[in-house]
Formats: sequence, structure tokens, C-alpha cells
Amino acid sequence: MSLDSAHLRAGSQSAAADPLAWLADEAAAIAAAGLHRSPPARRRDTAEVNLASNDYLGLATHPAVIAAAQRAVAEWGAGSTSSRLVVGTTQAHIDFEDDIADFLGTPAALAFSSGYLANIGAVTALAGRGDLIVSDTGTHASLIDGCRLSRARVVVVERGDVAAVRRELAARSETRALVVTDSIYSIDGECAPIAELYSAASDLGATLLVDEAHALGVRGPGGRGVVAECGLSGRPGLVVTTVASKSLGAQGGIVAGPALLRDHLIDRARTFIFDTGLAPAAVGAAHAALGVLRADPALPQRLRRSVASFAGAVGAAEPQSAVVSLIVGDPVDAVAAAAQCRDRGVLVGCFRPPSVPAGTSRLRVTVRADLDDRTLATVAGVVDEALTRVGVR
Ligand code: PMP
Repeated sequence: MSLDSAHLRAGSQSAAADPLAWLADEAAAIAAAGLHRSPPARRRDTAEVNLASNDYLGLATHPAVIAAAQRAVAEWGAGSTSSRLVVGTTQAHIDFEDDIADFLGTPAALAFSSGYLANIGAVTALAGRGDLIVSDTGTHASLIDGCRLSRARVVVVERGDVAAVRRELAARSETRALVVTDSIYSIDGECAPIAELYSAASDLGATLLVDEAHALGVRGPGGRGVVAECGLSGRPGLVVTTVASKSLGAQGGIVAGPALLRDHLIDRARTFIFDTGLAPAAVGAAHAALGVLRADPALPQRLRRSVASFAGAVGAAEPQSAVVSLIVGDPVDAVAAAAQCRDRGVLVGCFRPPSVPAGTSRLRVTVRADLDDRTLATVAGVVDEALTRVGVR
């Protein structure tokens, strides 16, 4: 049989039965559970108030940040053109890495093209077959995926249960162990017991990896994060991952720690080695945003004050970060409340399973430092009315 006729026969078989037909059943099941999603296209030039982003400091639209992104594109081009190890590393990447390492109080840092890839790269480079990872029930999907890809034995404990972390570390047969956690949990914005976890890890010969994605620019001295707040910056056995995609208003992931860690990630982290380097515009923007934060160290405190006043106005407890989590319960009600806010010009996040456990669908409202008190009071009223309408108040 010639190659052509084999090819034609295969073609006619696939025309008879679409191998992707199962997607229709899947879509129907998702819709029936009220869990269908679609990314809403953001509109330009609207009067909408955006309380759904992670741009906590409003730096995504800061003039100095935009100008720096434009300069970086003019200087280095639209893309980094290859992986970091080939020709995708510019001087801008190196300068940003040095500066953020210095800001975080660590000897070195390495930039990945996203926080997701930074976490996967760090976890898989630090733990493998024959090692133990202790994770918790609140960690971000990127840490979970890193654990799964690592081939290490993974134990998941309740978040905040430091005694369980100690028990698992003490009972292990593996020599090497890694404890992974978010410092600020992304969905509800609560803070993990980082000082206690560090003590547990160091007492029992384990490394602690802390994801500070939602803490950078929000917690700690000058926005340096929870690790800095606990006085742990630069300690041995501590790895910090963070992102440029939230309070820095740009894009990219960072792993910070000892110089040997940076070298090891360059040699071993597959999401660094095989991925096109972070785009110059993102590097330029992130570095300029870091400059804005350094120049105004009270910015995180002002943000926290605004968060506290917004939370008070909607009857929520004082949040531990920029995230105000308002539990609705039923996913259909949560969608309805978010839609009502949107109709009234206020964008809020709406989280449903599988992002949160069943029965805990919620609005996730993120307060921004660049919103004035009057705007915050108005939007708090809108959110409160939407919650009342679906019977949560
Ligand atoms: N870690 C946490 C805690 C996050 O919330 C996120 C983003 N949702 C990430 C990592 C991934 O970062 P990025 O969006 O830059 O890929």
C-alpha cells in the first residue's frame, strides 16, 4: 500500500467518527453544574472600576512602567527570541534579577517567563524520585503541578498545620525533603505561618519554598513580603518564589535564594531551559515597577489601609493581604452577584469549583492602592447590594 492511500484511509475514518465528540458531553456536564467559564474580553476606555485584577498597586498602568516597557521593546525587540540559555538573556534580564535579589535580601534570583513556570521549575529542580515533598491544602496550582511532575513522594497536610508538617518530616525515610507553601493564599488572601514552617523545616533538615506571589508589594517592610516580615530573608534552606504579574503589574516569575540555587536552576529547571525567555517589555516593566515600589516604601501600607476600610464597609473581617474574600456558597449565586456588580460598573473576581471547594463559591475582591476613598466607598456599596440581592446579607 502506498503512503498516499494509507493516509487517505486514515482520513476517511476520522471523518466518520469525530474522536473529539466526547467534548460535547463534557461541555454539557460542566454547564449543567453551573461551572462553564469564558474569559470576558476587557473593554478599553470604560468607566468600570476593576477590583478583579492582581494589580494591587495599580502599576500596570503607571506611566513610568509603561515607558520602561516601551524602551525595552525599542532596545531589545518584541520577544527575547530564544530560550535564556541560547540568546534570550539580555542585560535587562540580568539587571532585573540582580535588583530583585537585592530587594528580597537574597544573593541571587532567576527570572522565568511566568510565576507558574518558576514554581514548576523550582519544585522539580529541588525534589525528585526518592525525595519527600510536604505541601498543604492551600497551595497554588503551579506548586501542585510542580509536586506532581517532580516524581517525589508528596504528602499534603491541612494548611496551617505545622505540627503535621513536623510529623511528616520527622517520620520520613527519605534524606532530602522540601516543604512548599504560599505565604499569602491566593484565593482568600490569608497568611500562612511562615516563621513556624521555617523552624519546622530547619529543625528537621528540610528546605522551605515560599511562594510570595500575593505578598510582594503588599506585606513586609517596603513590600518585601512575609519572609522579610518574619526576619528570614536570605536564611539558609529558604527558597522564595514570586511573580512580576501581580503587584508589579507586569509578567514573569522569580526564584530567589543562594547563588548555588540559581546555578542549579539554570542547569536543571526544565521550565527555564526549554522555554523562551521572558519578553523584554515584561522585564523592563517589572524592573521599573520595582523602582516605583523602592521609591515609595509606604505604598504597601497605604494599600493595606484601603483594604481594611473596604473590608469594613462590606462587613468582612480585616484581610491579611489585598484580597477580600466574600463567600457566597452556591456557584450560580456567586456568578449572579458578580454579574450584578459588573452591570453597575464594578469588576470583581468570581471563584467556583474546581478553584475552590464545593459550597464555597465566592467573590474575590482585590483592592488597589490607586483608588481613592470615595471610589472605594461607592464600589463597596455596589458589592454589598449584590451580596444582599443573592441573599448572603
Ligand atoms: N503563585 C500564586 C500563589 C499565584 O496566585 C499565581 C497566579 N495566579 C502564580 C503563582 C502564577 O503566576 P503567573 O500568573 O505569573 O504565572
